[in-house]
Amino acid sequence: MASGRDRRVEPDPELGDHVAAGACAFDQLAEQRGGTSALDRGHAPALEPEHARLVHEMGHFVEARRQGLEPTLPTFIPFFGAFVTHAPVNPWRQALISLAGPFLGGLGAATIWVAGEASGSRLLQALGYFGFLLNLFNLLPIGFLDGGSIARSFRYLRLGGARDRAYLVGFAYVGLALALIAGMYGAYVHQHRL
Ligand SMILES: [Zn+2]
Repeated sequence: MASGRDRRVEPDPELGDHVAAGACAFDQLAEQRGGTSALDRGHAPALEPEHARLVHEMGHFVEARRQGLEPTLPTFIPFFGAFVTHAPVNPWRQALISLAGPFLGGLGAATIWVAGEASGSRLLQALGYFGFLLNLFNLLPIGFLDGGSIARSFRYLRLGGARDRAYLVGFAYVGLALALIAGMYGAYVHQHRL
């Protein structure tokens, strides 16, 4: 599960198109703000490009498929967010599915950011930053967000006697959050150098 906003109703299997659409939307926005980067204004959660959300959702999808579940393809709801549904599973498997979204989303953001560094594209660097932020946001340990689901799994595993697995989930969660923060920091500093 994820939250946030998304204007798109239908997921598009063409990732390239999503990058292009997101880029256009962001570009317009930056122009509306007098040509300054919207990064500096901290409006990211409401403005994240669609491709970043799709990559995140595909993380959940791929992991659920790997587990032999039959997940639905990502469903996008305007002004709410996006989600992948699957059969109920035990806390350990749920934790893996919940972690997989921000994990793949973070890798996607890193890829876009590196491409931006390599090509000198400020836009791609900014999209990478938004990707890191979007995935970090989803790790907040709040109810319906991935972070809330991970926190519940952690609690069930710990109290249920599966302490080793609980700690693995905890380490993965903290490591992923730190990696996303590091990515944001790197992309953000770069914006200021330009
Ligand atoms: Zn998610």
